[in-house]
This record gives sequence, C-alpha cells and structure tokens, in this order.
Amino acid sequence: MVKRMKIEIMTLFPEMCRNVFSESILGRAIAKGVLEVKSVNIRDFAENKHHRTDDTPYGGGAGMLLQAEPISACFSSLCHEGDRPHLIYMSPKGKILTQERAKELAKLSHLAILCGHYEGVDQRVLDEIVDEEISIGDYVLTGGELPALVLTDCIARMLEGTLSSEEGKTGESHYDGLLEYPQYTKPPIWHDKRVPEVLLSGHHEKIERWRRGMALAETWLRRPDLMEKQNLTEADWEELRYFVEYRKKQ
Ligand code: SAM
Repeated sequence: MVKRMKIEIMTLFPEMCRNVFSESILGRAIAKGVLEVKSVNIRDFAENKHHRTDDTPYGGGAGMLLQAEPISACFSSLCHEGDRPHLIYMSPKGKILTQERAKELAKLSHLAILCGHYEGVDQRVLDEIVDEEISIGDYVLTGGELPALVLTDCIARMLEGTLSSEEGKTGESHYDGLLEYPQYTKPPIWHDKRVPEVLLSGHHEKIERWRRGMALAETWLRRPDLMEKQNLTEADWEELRYFVEYRKKQ
C-alpha cells in the first residue's frame, strides 16, 4: 500500500498556499491520496477581538513580530494523542534545503510547517515547539509561504506514487548528488544542431554510459563543490576527463 503523508502549513495567508495545492504534480499527489496538505490560519487562534497576531519587538527596531501564543495554540490543534507532527520553521537562519534532507523528511508521516511573516517570530515559541529550521537559500523573502510550498513540492516528489515511472526522479539533478545530463527531444536537427548520435542509436548500454559521463561532466563544470561527496573510482575519473573534453567541444 502506498504510504500517505500529511503536511499542515501554519500561515497568516492560507489562500496563498491552497491555490498551489490543486496544480500539477502536487495536485496529482493529493488526488491520488499519496499526500494530504492543509493550510491552517494562525489568526484563528488569536484570542483578541481583532484576531491580531503581531506586535512590536522589545528593545525597539523596525517591523512587527508574530506573537508566541497564537502559534503555540495553532500547533497544539495539530497535535493528537500519539501523533505530534515534526515541526519545521521556514527561516533564512535555518539549514539550507537539500534533496537529501527532503528524501529523509519524505519518510515521516506527519509534518507541520510554520511560515513566519513581518520581521519573524517571537524566539520563545520557536525554542519551545520547533524541531528544525529550514532555509531555501541565502536571501530574505517577505514570508514563509513560498519557502513552505517549495519544501512541500520537493517532499511530494520523493513520495512513492507521486511521479509516474516515466517521470522517474532517480536520474534528476541532485538525486544521487550529481547534476542531470543534457536532454533533447524532437526534432533531431534544430538550427543546424544535432541531437548526439548515441541517443538515437537505441543502444541502451551506450546511452547509459553517455548519460553517466555527461552527468559527471556537467557537475564537474558547473558545481565542482558537489564532486567532493562523490567517491569516484579511477574508471570514473577517466570517464569524467573524456566527457569534460567532449562537453567543451559541443
Ligand atoms: N528578520 C528575519 C531575519 O532577518 O532572519 C527575516 C524575516 S522574513 C522578512 C519573514 C519570514 O519569511 C521569516 O520569518 C521566514 O518564515 C520567511 N523567510 C524569509 N526568507 C526565507 C528563506 N530564505 N528561507 C525560508 N524562509 C524564509
């Protein structure tokens, strides 16, 4: 049976997330029952008359901060006996999201994602309830909604049953630490540029060798930092040298 995962996004802007859930691969994963995604409005847990959730920072400074109590109450509403979701706060101070981490998170059955806004969130509630902070890159966005959707999409692709076999994720960039080989589709000649002969040959072994060699070359040329994690054999290095030269000539 295909495992079902539940992701609950805690946000001030639930509609922003809902609009994305129905589209494309995320929408299909939900329709297939592989994934359940809900957005929960933090404002519903503010007990004051105007459902206010923010206030000025102690010590002064610009902007507003999300208050601890509505976030804590919102998270409590997602916790049930024997089922406390792993809570991720999307934050530019978190660890940068990687494919490896998404693969690990895809093994869990219940996740909650907290989206900050304004200047961020009162530190006390983060210290009390958050299990992990994740950043989607070294830049600052206005709110955590886009980062939460990026994380949800990335995890959804890793769930068994989301992608069809034709959309297999295994050769994709970052899946095994390498960047993907170049891809081509019809027509075979476009603007005098030919699709590499080997891809038209139908010879599976040669195609596989070409793809692995080109993945090594792409990674070496574009992201040499990723090569450090690869345990390359002498034969791999030989292939790499050959395909780097081949790629440069294209
Ligand atoms: N004052 C915060 C700081 O300097 O670290 C930035 C707050 S930012 C304007 C508002 C919210 O957007 C954050 O609380 C976080 O949830 C989200 N956010 C912004 N950039 C992000 C990033 N690179 N990765 C993940 N979340 C981000």
